[in-house]
Amino acid sequence: MTMTFTLETPTRILFGEGMIDELASQIGPEERVLLLYGGGSIMRNGVHDRIRQALAGHVVTEFGGIEPNPEYETVMRAAVLAREEKVTFILGVGGGSVIDAAKFLSCAAPIGGGDAWDRMLGGRDLPEPLPSGAILTLPATGSESNPVSVISRTARGLKLPFKREAARPRFAILDPSTMKSLPRRQLENGVVDAVTHVLEQYLTLPVNAPVQHGYSEALLAVLFEWGPRLLVEDSDEARENVMWAANQALNGLIGAGVPQDWSTHMIGHALTALHGLDHARSLSLVMPHLMRNRMPNKVAMLARYGRRVWGVAEADDRAAADLAIARTEDFFRRMNCPVAVRDVPGLAVSPDKVVQHLEEAGQLPLGENADIGAAEVRAILKAAGAAA
Ligand code: NAP
Ligand code: FE
Repeated sequence: MTMTFTLETPTRILFGEGMIDELASQIGPEERVLLLYGGGSIMRNGVHDRIRQALAGHVVTEFGGIEPNPEYETVMRAAVLAREEKVTFILGVGGGSVIDAAKFLSCAAPIGGGDAWDRMLGGRDLPEPLPSGAILTLPATGSESNPVSVISRTARGLKLPFKREAARPRFAILDPSTMKSLPRRQLENGVVDAVTHVLEQYLTLPVNAPVQHGYSEALLAVLFEWGPRLLVEDSDEARENVMWAANQALNGLIGAGVPQDWSTHMIGHALTALHGLDHARSLSLVMPHLMRNRMPNKVAMLARYGRRVWGVAEADDRAAADLAIARTEDFFRRMNCPVAVRDVPGLAVSPDKVVQHLEEAGQLPLGENADIGAAEVRAILKAAGAAA
């Protein structure tokens, strides 16, 4: 198979402490800005004050209350405000949830009639999105420079990804000092989410892509070294390395022209919609079992991963692949994330309900070979400890 791809990553990255002060140079003085934020962390850690100072000359309207795993209904309330205030620029400030909501909002606000969710799933005849920018305070998702928004619609029992290239933010400010107020659980989640993003673009069928694969291995090595350090060290280096690696893990580069397998994410979205699991924790619970289930497809890349990233010495591919999965599982445990249903107190997963979510979302079959159907999803969840 020869390599073919189109890659455009137009988001300007402003990385480093103090970069929030550059905000006014990124948003024209004539813009009417909607500042979108979450549950209030930015009020407590000084980020909001710094933004308001930087945007002192701008017309700014604020909308707070975007929840983790952002809700469609909440984003639509923001869309009403955006239209009322004739907003021309959306600024999302927070983690992946707020930034996903900001990108979805930038697409939804200009949609005049009809149900924006259904219109965006349909994907045709959509108006141009409003321009947006992101200030990231939680490294994890890569949302700050990618085209995807993951939005939940509880009324329909769904959590779905929406991809629109035109929704990539114009700029993303990554100031690692904003991470100082993050609770340990969110640091753990962020590292684990970023690791799974790399693995879902890397552990697929082997192809000729030494640039993408080598870059993936570098990102994994950084996350495996600095993720655990971030939990115990109060260091700029740890914050910088994790923040940059998490961004690069999902901005398009390592996935360009290579097979991708987003089945851990799609099954994880169903688990979050059904059980409210943190995004990263839904992924760590599924991924090791999915890898074992998909061994024939993945053995070559798993063995390469084991040898190059974990220093596994086994000459036999299957033995190296098994060890690679075990090391990954150990890493998730070190990050306090579950690797089986029993690790989450009170959790009872119904494979049928997960399959139903995937079917309603039109996502089956999953996998880089489109060979993960309902039976495979059930087997993976059973291996993770779900009731049969
Ligand atoms: P998040 O849901 O954005 O935030 C989790 C919590 O961390 C919130 O309570 C938030 O509080 C808090 N927080 C954020 N920054 C903080 C700071 N500096 N100090 C203190 N608290 C802070 O977490 P996330 O893991 O970044 O995003 C998860 C969402 O992204 C999920 O919906 C997932 O499906 C989605 N996702 C998207 C992509 C993509 O490509 N777009 C990829 C993977 C996952 P406040 O609300 O108060 O700020
Ligand atoms: Fe993710």
